[in-house]
Amino acid sequence: MAVRATASRFPIDSDALEASGLPWGLTVTPFAAKDETGIGPAYGSNGHLLPRCENCYAYFNTYCELDQWAWTCSLCGTLNGLSSDAIARYSYPHDSIPETSSSFVDLELPLDGSEEEMTQARPVYVAAIDLSSSEEFLELTKSALLAALEALSPGSLFGLATFSHKIGLYDVQGPIPVVKNVFIPPDAESKLPLELEDAMPLLQFLAPVETCKDRIAAALETLRPITSWERSSGAAQGIDGVLMGGRGFGTAMEALFNYLGSEFGNTFALARVFAFMSGPPDYGRGQLDTSRYGEQYASKRVDADRALLPEQTPFYKDLATIAVQSGVCVDVFAVTNEYTDLASLKFLSIESGGSLFLYSSTDDSTLPQDMFRMLNRPYAFNCVLRLRTSTEFKPLHSYGHFFPDPQYENLQHIICCDSYATYAYDFEFANNTGFSRHSREPPVVQIAFQYTVVVPTEGLQNSELPSSSRGKHVLQRRLRIRTMQFETAQNINEIYDSVDHEVVLSLLVHKVILVSLEDGVREGRALLHDWLVILTAQYNDAYNLVQYKNGNKSMSSQIDITFSQCPQLEPLPRLVFALLRNPLLRFHEEGVHPDYRIYLQCLFSVLEPSSLHCGIYPSLTSYSTPDKQAYPRHSLSRAALLTSDSPIFFLDAYTTLIVFYTSTADPSLPFPPPQDCLLRKNINMVKQGRSITPKLMFIRGGKDDATAFENYLIEEQDVDGSGFASAKGFVSFLDDISQSVAEYMK
Ligand SMILES: [Zn+2]
Repeated sequence: MAVRATASRFPIDSDALEASGLPWGLTVTPFAAKDETGIGPAYGSNGHLLPRCENCYAYFNTYCELDQWAWTCSLCGTLNGLSSDAIARYSYPHDSIPETSSSFVDLELPLDGSEEEMTQARPVYVAAIDLSSSEEFLELTKSALLAALEALSPGSLFGLATFSHKIGLYDVQGPIPVVKNVFIPPDAESKLPLELEDAMPLLQFLAPVETCKDRIAAALETLRPITSWERSSGAAQGIDGVLMGGRGFGTAMEALFNYLGSEFGNTFALARVFAFMSGPPDYGRGQLDTSRYGEQYASKRVDADRALLPEQTPFYKDLATIAVQSGVCVDVFAVTNEYTDLASLKFLSIESGGSLFLYSSTDDSTLPQDMFRMLNRPYAFNCVLRLRTSTEFKPLHSYGHFFPDPQYENLQHIICCDSYATYAYDFEFANNTGFSRHSREPPVVQIAFQYTVVVPTEGLQNSELPSSSRGKHVLQRRLRIRTMQFETAQNINEIYDSVDHEVVLSLLVHKVILVSLEDGVREGRALLHDWLVILTAQYNDAYNLVQYKNGNKSMSSQIDITFSQCPQLEPLPRLVFALLRNPLLRFHEEGVHPDYRIYLQCLFSVLEPSSLHCGIYPSLTSYSTPDKQAYPRHSLSRAALLTSDSPIFFLDAYTTLIVFYTSTADPSLPFPPPQDCLLRKNINMVKQGRSITPKLMFIRGGKDDATAFENYLIEEQDVDGSGFASAKGFVSFLDDISQSVAEYMK
């Protein structure tokens, strides 16, 4: 569990917080194997016996004072008695007790009744493939699924389904694959005429991967796109004979979840559905009206960025609830450049704990690699995340792909979560007092994360398991707790000096996404602009105060826009500028596809702070040869490139990696860089540590089209995208901020 705060020294009270102009909060990556400094937890068992505070329910931790019979809670100060068992356990302090040796523990919990009955919880995966598509789409989907089959552990069950104007269920357990079809009524109201269970019993549909791999592959080979002839002769005929669409996605998903739900808690504890789509649902339940996209283009008066961001129907949000109740997590893979209205569809994946992937074409899609990667990494499910703080402050907002508990405040449920998934909180003071200036009690945050993992019995230490359990899986419930102590800042400079600008960026990104969803992109941009103005003003205010005390008044008239006195704040103006240039916040008129914007919103709101930094302000390094790095960091400016005499540049924009050879590069330098060189080694390292597969491009300046690379050189671009030729970019942005700061300070 990695936790990073906006500043390691907390503001002393709400006045100090306001005066700082900074957000106050933290990010948490609960299922990360290590903490933010690379240290793992102390492992143990009997998490249910860990003492808890009778006042605030915090767990006992290393910051609590422990006496012979009692302990004092480090969060609320309550004195709690110890049970006789705990007294015996803690009577001689010992390094082998996790909770007394580390503030980061991971403890096994006993399974509750229903989980205990699931002695053979098997991982279940279902692929749902859009046949209302093209040959190219199906080829890509097939190769993705063949990659997936290689990544699935023995003992997993796999089901293959298709959807169009009908649902196809494959039985691959017999000698030849058999498909059963259920036709979907075309209108948005009718349900299926037949339950899927009646078309094919679920356990016939879910096939063991290890014995059926070849037949699953054979069944995949038989998939063909639905032809218009099939569609018109099927149920897809409109009343007046006009051919209607044929992608009955909503009905198919609803039917699949109900189908799988019958074995939830019996065969499986979590089933994952991979939904492959080549366009918007336009048939049956949950069909989407994609004409709203065209209408936006036609009209000039409406804020398109605002109109296209909200969902047009609650159908997919409600469907996500059905998925969750059926123990299903949905990953949506959209391979299309058609307007698909991900704004409506996204809820299906984010609320069920899945991911949303968007590929604009089948040609350069990294879908098979993403699939393999996703299945090859561990995930936790059925998770509960709870953040507690000492009494002086409390969480204000929470951000990320979880949903709140209907009953308890500050308790979040996460259906499925991998080691990358990151969440954020911001804080407010509980009252006007704040942290006492003279108190010995520092601010404390405790994050508890309860989760379940499926463990193959091979992975268990216990060598006495009977051989019959080979290839089987068992459930493990665990409790991970991280307790952190922070310091308080005695003055504003102490806050500024302890700022983590990447965490500040994370909170800003969450806030602007929320504002742009509610009030449009324009409002999101305005919020960001105003925030930077206020921060700069507050910083200058604090700084000038120091100057005045020193009797140096001449400096006070000059606004320091670059935060030259505080290296921790210095990156922020550049990051805000880059965020304003990011497709996340660029205007519709600049050609940002609404689905791409939604995809970025979903991606950026789960990234940990350093990855997000890379996505917003890509890192640019240079090489003098493929084997020798020249400079580790360049600003994203054409001028910087021109003045540097390096022939090779490597740009990492999180989703895209570009190797760029300048037009003046020595022609004897091998292109593309050879497999065994340092540059390739670095590229591979970057690829391995990433939650998605970045797209890798090689570009030769002067020979290839370099637009893809040059678009990332943002510092000469106009912040509003209105005047590319002006080449004022970042410099004029700073001038503008500086003027606004001067006005604000008056
Ligand atoms: Zn307490």
